Amino acid sequence: MKLIDPILQFQSEIQEIRRDIHAHPELCYEEHRTAEVVANQLTQWGIPVVRGLGKTGVLGIIRNGDSPRAIGLRADMDALPMQELNTFAHTSRHAGKMHACGHDGHTAMLLGAAKYLAQHRDFDGTVYLIFQPAEEGGGGARAMMQDGLFEQYPMEAVFGMHNWPGIASGHFAVTPGPMMASSNEFYVTVRGKGAHAAQPHKGIDPIMTAIQIAQSWQTIVSRNASPLESAVLSVTQIHSGSATNVIPDEATLIGTVRAFSTEMIDLIERRMQTIAQHTAAAFDAEVEFSFKRNYPPLINHAAETAFATEVMRAVVGADKVDAHTEPTMGAEDFAFMLQAKPGCYVFLGNGEGSHRDAGHGLGPCNLHNPSYDFNDELLPVGATYWVRLAENYLKKTA
Ligand SMILES: [Zn+2]
Ligand SMILES: [Zn+2]
Repeated sequence: MKLIDPILQFQSEIQEIRRDIHAHPELCYEEHRTAEVVANQLTQWGIPVVRGLGKTGVLGIIRNGDSPRAIGLRADMDALPMQELNTFAHTSRHAGKMHACGHDGHTAMLLGAAKYLAQHRDFDGTVYLIFQPAEEGGGGARAMMQDGLFEQYPMEAVFGMHNWPGIASGHFAVTPGPMMASSNEFYVTVRGKGAHAAQPHKGIDPIMTAIQIAQSWQTIVSRNASPLESAVLSVTQIHSGSATNVIPDEATLIGTVRAFSTEMIDLIERRMQTIAQHTAAAFDAEVEFSFKRNYPPLINHAAETAFATEVMRAVVGADKVDAHTEPTMGAEDFAFMLQAKPGCYVFLGNGEGSHRDAGHGLGPCNLHNPSYDFNDELLPVGATYWVRLAENYLKKTA
């Protein structure tokens, strides 16, 4: 590993910030204290700060030389609405809120890079440090873009990073093309006609209709989608009825659809709607169809991924970089930024949990687990990656 010496020198300062943020988790668009901590640190290091992009977002701007070139480095700041079970000193002070996805670590790694870049300035151009709110379902990346992030602060490319439990500590994993899925929800209500259960012929049974619809939907991935593409359609809730002797008025089907291309999502939504409407019509029922698109698929751009991969290899060694990792069906709102700008999103291994010995909670340390904790060993690794990425992207020519 070729970690940057000064970053190793101030690692404990960054770790202190990380643990302070961990102890004070804040949810979607409520990251007021976190944003304050970030802005104060940046200001203290002489970095100009813009507040209020995407409500609680913070943008740090480090300029050097006279090149008009610019790069964006992004970290997310929000926590999750869940109870932390860890008992160590930096456990959450806020009941029902927890940094169980490691966004405290993402924020700290980018702060570490910011401090070094501001002090050493070995690049020509502008580094934008994007601290976004509300990744966990709130679309904070999109909110910052809607507030003019890319128009007011033009940058050529954006880069993101997520810690990843299960991958060895300090190893990187990435792949060009689709890396994370698009997530979407559907809410479908079938309206029939209530009746006495002993007189079904006097009603229109919404339960039978809903079952037919749910079953027929399972032909979409198997019969309409290309077998070479991945997609998931899961009905996760069926609600109807209140008594053994009543045929209810309506039934509701709820669930999720995941895929790696917008075309696939278009196909699935269209087929779901057609099947729902025509099946309902066949049973004299009516249907109300709602399909909510959450995050688009996260697609890494080939050139920027190749560039980032070389930087990762230089930092941790080629044997610790998986350049063609398996995509995940999880979703991530950095996908919005990659629709607008070229760039690359990478996973940084959080290890198998050995960092959680001494006083840390028991159990596995998967993301969104109540015993999860970000691995502080990664702070200098992630910060070094950010620094080398920016320095190489904005290389001095003279
Ligand atoms: Zn998460
Ligand atoms: Zn996350």
